[in-house]
Formats: sequence, structure tokens, C-alpha cells
Amino acid sequence: MNREFYGKLIFELSKPGRRGFHVADNRLPEVDGAIPANLQREQPLQLPEVDEPTVVRHYTNMSNNNFGVDTGFYPLGSCTMKYNPKINEEVSSHHAFRNLHPDTPEMAVQGALKMYYELQRALSEIGGMAEFTLNPYAGAHGELTGLMVIRAYHAGRGDDARVKVIVPDSAHGTNPASAAVAGLDIVEVKSRPDGTVDVDDLRPLLDGTVAAVMMTNPNTLGIFEKNIPEIAKLVHDAGALLYYDGANLNPMLGVARPGDMGFDVMHINLHKTFSTPHGGGGPGAGPVGVRAGLEQYLPYPKVVKNADGTYSLVTDGESLGKISSHLGNFGVEMRALAYILSLGKENIGNVGPLATLGANYIKESLKDKYLLPIEGVCKHEFVFDGLIDKSTGVTTLNIAKRLLDYGYHAPTIYFPLLFHESLMIEPTETESVDTLDDFIEVMRKIADEAATDPEMVKSAPHNTPVSRPDDTEAALHPVVKYE
Ligand SMILES: *Cc1c(COP(=O)(O)O)cnc(C)c1O
Repeated sequence: MNREFYGKLIFELSKPGRRGFHVADNRLPEVDGAIPANLQREQPLQLPEVDEPTVVRHYTNMSNNNFGVDTGFYPLGSCTMKYNPKINEEVSSHHAFRNLHPDTPEMAVQGALKMYYELQRALSEIGGMAEFTLNPYAGAHGELTGLMVIRAYHAGRGDDARVKVIVPDSAHGTNPASAAVAGLDIVEVKSRPDGTVDVDDLRPLLDGTVAAVMMTNPNTLGIFEKNIPEIAKLVHDAGALLYYDGANLNPMLGVARPGDMGFDVMHINLHKTFSTPHGGGGPGAGPVGVRAGLEQYLPYPKVVKNADGTYSLVTDGESLGKISSHLGNFGVEMRALAYILSLGKENIGNVGPLATLGANYIKESLKDKYLLPIEGVCKHEFVFDGLIDKSTGVTTLNIAKRLLDYGYHAPTIYFPLLFHESLMIEPTETESVDTLDDFIEVMRKIADEAATDPEMVKSAPHNTPVSRPDDTEAALHPVVKYE
């Protein structure tokens, strides 16, 4: 961090008359009265006046204040920050794709439609579904789309008594939120002490008013739901559909398919499962897949392959209509297909086992210092309930902040809500054992510091450019202009 620029706003680097550009004289005559007097600026615009190197250094230094998966290990559970291979960027920013106008006629964008079609097919194969739409822009948007498909299915059977969605208490917050946006009532089903859905609690909730049950598997605790076949039967016997939240499909890749487990509708977060850096809320894509018999309800446009090998857009049929403009988030889709094709069928099956191995390795190496509320094998992620020794008052928040001092992004904290001090760790499959070992060593060191020097841990971070911003205040009342 360069002291000259540290903490300064670009306006504070301004010197009257400094310039970083030169505009050639256009040699056109000035026309008096071309702009009406009341629209003319009386004072010159107050812009920072800086030379080009200052601008470049200012923004480069600012970017160094940020933490990304390209700067360090980012073990964010549930929201999965996966390494994005640079070849994906090259592919998705290729000018032939990047410069396409969304309204270009079909015959001139056959390559783009082929990319879209192939990703639809690849996801259908990976998910064990009959068909996928790539249109939704995010996981939550995929959930909403999937629930709209489910509503359309029930409406198509003339059954309009189904107004409820059952959601486990461990579910991601977007599940109940999407159900509410879809106009459905939310009923919560409890988890058992082992973290899986309590089938005995679920059974009496299932009746003719239930449209769907939403499940995440492995659930947000990283625990595999072993009772899915039984749950699928109960749900289907009650006339409802089973929804799979596949936001993070990492542990399943090449190992198991939601379609084979009895799920009817699912979404996948391309930005968590198939790379794409998505910090700060974007960009994302949440394609939705359905089993045979529900394809007709998927939103349009759909991309189909014709008998002569060309591709077309379909915008009619029983579809629930449009849920996004054009064909979704094309750049994210391209990265996902690049990720899938570079692994290929032979290697994609290693993703799940490696992600699972890494998570279990960290869990087992730290559980003598951090409280593991649910013992046993986890999948791609797991949750600690803070330190085992809480006597010095060091919290999960303090641990997360202290990790920043050591150059690690914090894990997900205070989610899921099942424990008071949740610390949710997910390594992803691309991290080497050396990275995992270093992280484990630092986590152990922090546990020791919490015992010997708790005040230092409580006041962390000490090495970051900004220490402890008030994140609630920053979200509610952001200061976005210089005064
Ligand atoms: C991230 C996540 C979502 C929501 O996805 P967004 O793209 O953030 O809308 C839903 N469910 C689970 C389990 C998730 O991890």
C-alpha cells in the first residue's frame, strides 16, 4: 500500500489544472444559442483534476484493498467462492461472443445458440433432468422460476388448493423468500439432532394444500440427507412436487444426480458450481431443470436443435412466459460450459470427492479446538459452533476478523441459524493440501491466541487497510458522493 494514496479519495489528489488527457481541436465553429441558456452550466463541473499515473495508481491501490479468490484462500461456506480458471475469462470475453447484440437474428448467432443448447444438455445430464432453462439470473431467481413451474403444473391439473411450500429450518434464506415471492405460504419442517430433515415432523405436514417441498442435499450443514427416497415417496403420494436447491452442486458432481433421487425440479448456481467470480452480489446464473413431463412449463425463450443441425429460439407453447430478458447471463453460462468441457466427463466426477475430502480434512484437523456440533462425515462444507473454549469471550466474529490479519477471507459466519456461533467452512476442490495445511495452522494459532491474548483477537483485524467498518450502517446509509 502506497502511503501517497493511502485512504485518499480521488478528489483529495486533485490539483487545479492537472490533466491526464488531451482532446484535439475539432475545428467545428461554436454555434451561439445552440443550447438554451437555462440548460447551460453556470459553474464548471467539479471533477477531480489529476494526471494519468495518479488515476491508475489510485484505482490499483484501491483494488488492493479488496480480497478475492485470486488473492487468497476464500473458504466461504454455502456461498462457495470457487477458483475461476483464466481460460474461462478468455472464452467468455471473446469478441465474437462479447459483442453480440441480443436481438441479432437467429441465423447469425448459431454459435451462441449452440453454446446455450450444449450447456442445457450438459446440465440435464449432470442433474439427471429432462430439460433445463438457463434464463434465471441467480439462485434465488431460479428458485422463483422453479416454484412458478410447480404452480403452473398444479394449475394445469386444475388443482388450485396447493398454497404451501415446506422448507427445512436449515434452508438457505432464499428458499422461504422465493416461496413468498411466488405467492405461496411457508411451513417450516424441523431438523433432527444429526442435522437431517425430521421425517416424522414432515409426514403430518403433507396434505392436499402443499405444492412443494424444497430440499438442499447435502443440506446447508454439509450433511447428506439419507432419507430422500422415503421423503420423495411421501411428497409424491401427497400429490406435491419435490424441489432441489442445487445452488452448490459441487459434492454431487459426477457422484449422484438429483433426478435419480426423485426430485422433480431443481436449480443450479452456475456461479458456485462452475466457477465465475461473484463477490459483491454478482454476476450469477441459476438455471432450472425439470423431470420429464414438466418441460412444457419452463420459461421461454428456449433453444432447440432442429433436424438439420441448426438451432432455433422457441417462444410459445404452455410456457409460464418470460422471466428474464433474452437468454439469461450469457457470460456466466459461457464460463460454466468452459469449466464443464475442460474437465470433461472423465474428470468431472473428481470434483465432488475432492471437495468432500478437503472439507473433512479441515474438520478433523480442527475439531479439538473448535466445537463440532454434528459429528461424522460431511460433504463439501461443515459448520463449527465457535471455539470449544468460550471462556475468554472470543466469538466467531472475532475469529473471522483475525483470519483477515493472516491473509484469509473469513468463512461464512452466523449461518446457518441452527447454532449461536456458526462458522461455516468450505474449501472447494481446487485448493492444494498445502493451502489447507496453512489454513489449519492459522485456525489453530487463532484458537491459542483466543486463550492467551483474547483482547488482541477481539480487536482484530490489525493489519488491514480498514479495521472494522460498521457493515450495517454501510449497507443502510452508504456514502456514495464526495462532500
Ligand atoms: C447461494 C445459495 C442460494 C441463493 O443463490 P443466489 O445466487 O445468491 O441467489 C440458494 N440456496 C443455497 C443453498 C445457496 O447456497
